[in-house]
Amino acid sequence: MINFNIPPFLGTEMEHIGKAIRNHKICGDGEYTKKCNQWMEEKFHAKKALLTTSCTHALEMAAILSDIQQGDEVIMPSYTFVSTADAFVMRGAKIIFVDIRPETMNLNEDLIASAITEKTKAIVPVHYAGVSCDMDKINAIAQKHQLMVVEDAAQGVMSKYKGQYLGTLSDYGCYSFHETKNYSMGEGGALLIKDANDIEKAEIIREKGTNRSKFFRGQIDKYTWVDYGSSYLPSDMNAAYLYAQLLEADKIFDDRMNSWNYYYEHLEDLQNHIDLPYIPEYCEHNAHMFYIKAKDLNERSELIAFLKEKEIGAVFHYIPLHSSPAGKKFGIFHGEDIYTTKESERLVRLPMYYGLRQDEQDIVIDALHQFYYNK
Ligand SMILES: *Cc1c(COP(=O)(O)O)cnc(C)c1O
Repeated sequence: MINFNIPPFLGTEMEHIGKAIRNHKICGDGEYTKKCNQWMEEKFHAKKALLTTSCTHALEMAAILSDIQQGDEVIMPSYTFVSTADAFVMRGAKIIFVDIRPETMNLNEDLIASAITEKTKAIVPVHYAGVSCDMDKINAIAQKHQLMVVEDAAQGVMSKYKGQYLGTLSDYGCYSFHETKNYSMGEGGALLIKDANDIEKAEIIREKGTNRSKFFRGQIDKYTWVDYGSSYLPSDMNAAYLYAQLLEADKIFDDRMNSWNYYYEHLEDLQNHIDLPYIPEYCEHNAHMFYIKAKDLNERSELIAFLKEKEIGAVFHYIPLHSSPAGKKFGIFHGEDIYTTKESERLVRLPMYYGLRQDEQDIVIDALHQFYYNK
């Protein structure tokens, strides 16, 4: 059996979790949470990074910080995970979906301007597969119309756009450390903040609406309820698991990149039958995902069934949000759905995780050749 995903595990995690336990500080904002925050700030050149309980929660924080109100409109792709929309729907926003670019599956930035109305408050680009959206174009539109930009960089940790790390290119960047992502703590995420003026508010939102963060830093002598908020800070034990991986971030990155390149090189000859991922010149990706695109939905279903018989875990995901029950209730597709549905029906994700072996990849590669050559 070749799994689709195995959560990253280096072997050093236990040592750090043990230390977190021996510190007798297993709640949030202990030693490891702080270490993770600092590591991200230094590595990604972020003004502030706050570890959160999930990327979903980082997105919720970004929606609150963006002051999303009832009736505001938020522009995003329909081809994304539910959380991208959920976070804004919870603030009362209406979601305006725009079509994607078929070659990257990212929102087509040329379609954003025509979707803007006087109610538009934010644009939420999703860096699908860790491949960056064209952020210069998106930021220019946002600046012109005075909109917030929130990057859903759940899949984009360690990827770059024109040399800068994803998540640091706009007002807020949201990372995921879910077990299916490149770096993990089981469930977790982070919010990256660009404007220093937002940091205090973010800390308050994350700490149940209190100024406890300030209290812990000794800046005030008691803490109190100062605004609304929730509980968005993870346990220090989870942070310890993540920290072990951040220390070896390059090792995980290189391992995944080798697997990604190996797939690419050994599937290139099938390009009459399938499409392979495309990486724009401005992007350095992080090998989050290796996908191929079959001819259509039918062929994809056959292919996934064929691979399953060979005990290969290949999956698809994202039923476009605008066609889901909640998507219909909370959003609307602006313009024509030329690529979102069509391309999402073709996509198959191949097994990809830290530690995937070459002989396992060979089995996947052989199976794909069998499928297409015997057609
Ligand atoms: C994984 C993912 C999320 C959600 O991340 P969680 O940490 O599980 O909340 C959001 N958006 C995208 C694009 C994702 O891939």
